[in-house]
Amino acid sequence: MIKLSNYKIIKKIASGGMGDVYLAEHEHLGNKVAIKSLHANLVHDESFRKRFITEAKTHHKLSHPNIVKLLDFQIQEHGLFLIMEYVEGKQLNDYITKVTGPIPEKKLIPLFLQILSAIEYAHSKKLIHRDIKPANILITKEEKVKVIDFGIAKQSAEDHGLTLAGQQVGTVSYMSPEQVNAETVDILTDIYSLGVTLFQMAVGKSPYDEVTNAFKIQLKIVNEPFPNARDVYPSISDKLLAIIEKATQKKKTDRYKN
Ligand code: ATP
Repeated sequence: MIKLSNYKIIKKIASGGMGDVYLAEHEHLGNKVAIKSLHANLVHDESFRKRFITEAKTHHKLSHPNIVKLLDFQIQEHGLFLIMEYVEGKQLNDYITKVTGPIPEKKLIPLFLQILSAIEYAHSKKLIHRDIKPANILITKEEKVKVIDFGIAKQSAEDHGLTLAGQQVGTVSYMSPEQVNAETVDILTDIYSLGVTLFQMAVGKSPYDEVTNAFKIQLKIVNEPFPNARDVYPSISDKLLAIIEKATQKKKTDRYKN
């Protein structure tokens, strides 16, 4: 368990690619926080250290009601710690599988608009998230959306493609063809991942749900037409279907521009 002055650690809530996330409470103020720590074995690895510090700096620039707030960042001998507001809620993927199934349109639209609002704001700050997926979107009991994990977010002007270590770790289903091909990415990559996320919200599962091999998914992303949401969920509306289709075009310039 980690130790951090002024915070009482309550429990570990997740283990991610770069570290663990803990629920904690400020000893004097009493507010709950989420503390993301870099794995102890990565603390002295220069590239991971740098990536974690970049995440803190990037995240710190953002202030939006649908983006989790970064409260503090601490570099200590034994670790690096991002201290965020704690969001009591569910990851969107769990929300879909455990609560709603395919989200009815009336419920889906206000949720998706909040996600769009967060990403539109990030883009207005010239920031690409690059890892938009339901697991990085938290939903509270009041149906408020909070986007998390700016671990691989990048300032668009300085982005030259997939060069960071560990980039392709984790689920690949939300990656755009240009990400799979390790080409330069821009905000249109986020538009693609938003389209895949919308697919999952509308039909209740991710487009490559049955494929367990990450390499096979990557081949499909690059070579095959994006799955038709109506084949999975026949009652999807024409409008939603068209939005998913346009957002997930293989050619970047065929997608929505913002
Ligand atoms: P991954 O490699 O799986 O993407 P990661 O190391 O980048 O993980 P995050 O995605 O930022 O870490 O967080 C991992 C999980 O911790 C989230 O999916 C979420 O369940 C939980 N979590 C992260 N931040 C918060 C928060 N502020 N409040 C509540 N839970 C959080």
